[in-house]
Parts: sequence; structure tokens; C-alpha cells
Amino acid sequence: MKRIAVYPGSFDPLTNGHLDLIGRASALFDELVVAVLTNTGKEEPLFSVEKRLAVLREVLRSQRNVRIDQFEGLLVDYVRSVGACAIVRGLRAISDFEYEFQMALMNRHLCGQVETFFLMAGEAYTYLSSRLVKEVAQLGGSVHGLVPPQVEALLEERYGRARRRKGKG
Ligand code: ADP
Repeated sequence: MKRIAVYPGSFDPLTNGHLDLIGRASALFDELVVAVLTNTGKEEPLFSVEKRLAVLREVLRSQRNVRIDQFEGLLVDYVRSVGACAIVRGLRAISDFEYEFQMALMNRHLCGQVETFFLMAGEAYTYLSSRLVKEVAQLGGSVHGLVPPQVEALLEERYGRARRRKGKG
């Protein structure tokens, strides 16, 4: 039987921390579905779901057992619908733990057959988050080496242009 895992998230934007986890998880399962959550209830996203999916598809196109998808609604319903047995999540510092612990136990309550796997990215990415990347890029700092080149270009397009306009004005 094929072992499928789902790695859900907002990926807004995709960082090298996410890619590190995708590499580790795809080595453990027959197939990894990277699933972009479309109803986050969070603040206005930086990039549209379509753009995030396009970035993921481009960056991960050579990864044979990684599939890109989107979902809304209950994660466990989506996990069941793709025939997966596991959810992959990442843990950075202790700050992630409380929320992830609650989520994992709630998902277990909703569906006892699905296990949550927690992975740690490489040390270099321990303090890396999409939120921080956005903040740094917005303020004109370099995010080189923290995100894939495609994301770096999109951030430059978004924030660089705004800054240049401001400089002229
Ligand atoms: P969320 O919006 O729920 O935080 P993200 O799209 O930011 O989702 O991330 C999806 C998952 O990847 C989460 O489990 C998050 O903890 C994990 N993750 C993100 N960045 C890193 C990183 N640098 N190291 C380890 N895990 C990470």
C-alpha cells in the first residue's frame, strides 16, 4: 500500500525552511502532497493562492514523489480524501509547540487513523518563518539564501518597486 502524507500550510511565501521539510518528508513517504490552505482566516495574504501554487510547482518540479494541491475546510477531511495516513508539520522553537500540539490532538480526536509527524528543519532555518521573511523584504533587507530564487524575485518585484516609487516621490 502506498504511504501518502500531507504537508499543509499557507506557504506565503515558500521559504527554504519549508523546502528543507519537504525534502525530509518526501524521503520518508511514497508520496508527499504539499497542500496550500486557502481559507486561513489570517490577515490578507501577500501572494494569491494561484501564485503560491505556481511557485511550489516550479520549485518542486523535479521532485518525483511530491504533488502540489490546495484545500479548504477540515484538514482531516482533505487528508482522508487523498488517501493519506499522515500529516507532516514542522517544529522550530518552543513557540510552535503549543499550537501544533493542540492541532495534532484535535486532528487525532477528529480522525484517529491519521498520525501527525513533526520534523525539524536544518539548524540554519530554525528561526525562519514566512512572516519574518515578509517583514525583512518589506523593509528592504536581503532574504537571499532564506527563500528560493523565484520567491526572492517576487518579493523584489513587490516591495522593491514600491520602495523605488517612494524614493522618487
Ligand atoms: P502556518 O501558516 O500554519 O505557520 P506555514 O505555511 O508557515 O504554516 O508552515 C507550514 C508548516 O511548516 C508549519 O508546521 C510550520 O511550523 C512549518 N515550518 C515553516 N517554516 C519552518 C522552518 N523554518 N522550520 C521548521 N518548520 C517550519
